[in-house]
Amino acid sequence: MEVSTRILKIDPANVDLELVREAAKVIKDGGTVAFPTETVYGLGASTYDPNAVRKVYEAKRRPMDNPLIVHIASLDQLYEVAAKVPPEAEVLARRFWPGPLTLLLYRSGSVPSEVTAGRDTVAVRMPAHPVALAFIRESGVPIAAPSANLAGRPSPTTAEHVIRDLYGRVDVIIDSGETLYGVESTIVDLTRDPPVLLRPGAMPLEKVEEVLGKMVDVPPFARGLGMADVALAPGMRYRHYAPYKQLTVVEGNYSDLKAYAAKVVEVVLGAARSGSRPVLLCSSETRPYYESMGIRTIELGPRSNIFVVARNLFKSLRLVDELVDVNEAFSEGFDEVGLGLAVMNRLRKASGFRVVRV
Ligand code: AMP
Ligand code: MG
Repeated sequence: MEVSTRILKIDPANVDLELVREAAKVIKDGGTVAFPTETVYGLGASTYDPNAVRKVYEAKRRPMDNPLIVHIASLDQLYEVAAKVPPEAEVLARRFWPGPLTLLLYRSGSVPSEVTAGRDTVAVRMPAHPVALAFIRESGVPIAAPSANLAGRPSPTTAEHVIRDLYGRVDVIIDSGETLYGVESTIVDLTRDPPVLLRPGAMPLEKVEEVLGKMVDVPPFARGLGMADVALAPGMRYRHYAPYKQLTVVEGNYSDLKAYAAKVVEVVLGAARSGSRPVLLCSSETRPYYESMGIRTIELGPRSNIFVVARNLFKSLRLVDELVDVNEAFSEGFDEVGLGLAVMNRLRKASGFRVVRV
């Protein structure tokens, strides 16, 4: 596969509609476009063009049984792609769209089976990014898109990450700088009662539950504890988000941070003593201590602001691979509250479930 890739730089603060139309033209002609959203970069094609959708799977080397999210720019498009829109979906859409919440609904006949991997459900969301919204609107069709990384790699939060993975494999890459959240959308299955969390993400589950007025079921796989049931969450059983180097998550009791950090030091220095050259992904609060113990670190952000930790997560996982004098990584764990649920899901999966408890 060799495609000539064009890079279009579009400033989200001052969206150049001429450039957006160039990208939209590529969609109308059956091509593929990597575009920014508020979560991560997506790789899009026309939802209604099965041939174009197949190109997305091919460019990413994504297994064909892992369905895509349909990105819309208006509520009309929701009724176009979903067969039934239950009241709960309307309530959530009105409250959280545009935003980082994806709803799983029964699909309409207009959505080709390539998009949904043959399922009778469709995942839909309206992204809150000025470039994404303009691009979908100008394309005139809902855009089917997974994250714009090679399958299995950390999701892209900058155009440089997309270029690294997909240059020469897609028609256009829109560069609008760094994304806001840095983790993907929260996916909630509304075809079940109670609703089921398929993937924690940038929209805190607590907010969804508050608006729904009921609890959402959180299966173990949604926390990154083991593989998903294929019937429920097709994409959740593949290795995901992973650096090429080995990653181990060191989990413990974060309310006694001093004691926890001392145990993390034992684990990391233990690895170093047996000849490894480790780097430790950690919080701002504990970093000075690790550095004073001679441990090399990558700072994710403060525990007191998990938003920043989430935002830095994927680029930090990519950085692990770029550090030449490092051959394995360890990461601290975080409380599974708010965005912390998404952070821990990504970390556990990125490690291939290599978790130690201290
Ligand atoms: P990505 O954002 O790259 O992870 O890709 C979209 C995610 O949405 C994948 O994890 C898919 O498994 C999930 N998804 C999309 N459509 C469906 C569906 N019909 N049923 C279950 N999960 C879905
Ligand atoms: Mg992905």
